[in-house]
Amino acid sequence: MQVELLYHTPDPERAVATAARLCYAPVGAADLMESLSDERIRKVLTTILESGHTSTLEHASYTFAIDGVSRALTHQLVRHRLASFNQQSQRYVRYAEGLDVIKPESIAANPEASEAFDSLMGQVMETYKAFLDAGVPAEDARYVLPNAAETKIVVTMNIRELLHFFSLRCCNRAQWEIRDLAWKMLDLVRPTAPFIFADAGPGCVRGACPEGKMTCGTPYPRSTRCS
Ligand SMILES: Cc1cc2nc3c(=O)[nH]c(=O)nc-3n(C[C@H](O)[C@H](O)[C@H](O)COP(=O)(O)OP(=O)(O)OC[C@H]3O[C@@H](n4cnc5c(N)ncnc54)[C@H](O)[C@@H]3O)c2cc1C
Repeated sequence: MQVELLYHTPDPERAVATAARLCYAPVGAADLMESLSDERIRKVLTTILESGHTSTLEHASYTFAIDGVSRALTHQLVRHRLASFNQQSQRYVRYAEGLDVIKPESIAANPEASEAFDSLMGQVMETYKAFLDAGVPAEDARYVLPNAAETKIVVTMNIRELLHFFSLRCCNRAQWEIRDLAWKMLDLVRPTAPFIFADAGPGCVRGACPEGKMTCGTPYPRSTRCS
């Protein structure tokens, strides 16, 4: 899996604090954007995060290039309705030279399962190519492609959505591949807005596990901001 942060709102913490301060200031956002001190920004962000005034977090967004993941992952990812997506099309991209697949470690580590997996993927690709050669359009030939099919997707999320995404998908209950992606995305955004993302991650980073009976029982270490 390759995850790259393509770009993000410049100075995201200043942008968010500016939007929040505007609600109570007699001057405009452009003035505030220039004049807020770092200490003031920190205070405003603390208020926002403690009070839940989180619409202000929507003013900074991040765009990621995600390659080398499975369609099983992207099917889960695109359920996050407040993000924006564009994904490599299986209608317009023909995998005539072959298609990479993602093999889960649980299968790769089991020689019998691994062999069966490789053999099935080989058959799938043969059938797919035979369909293309027979004139079946790629949009129909793709019906034989598996969840394991490698894909590429570009994703944009604002900070409010990112925090929500990290809560759900950094959690040990999330499926391993999307969890791996979520932690990689968190590692990329954290340095850009260290105060806001200080306690980002699964719910257990901020308090009791929200998963109830489904808890994994092994919470992540609590954020220093919350302890
Ligand atoms: C561990 C795990 C297991 C899962 N298992 C399944 C499963 O078995 N089957 C399945 O179908 N899905 C499953 N999902 C997906 C899950 O149900 C959600 O679709 C997915 O996590 C997106 O979450 P969301 O709707 O909160 O987020 P987003 O779509 O990113 O939305 C963010 C927030 O915006 C608000 N919002 C967005 N849209 C609306 C709306 N239309 N109305 C009101 N408020 C809205 C909500 O507060 C929402 O939490 C699973 C997810 C996880 C993390």
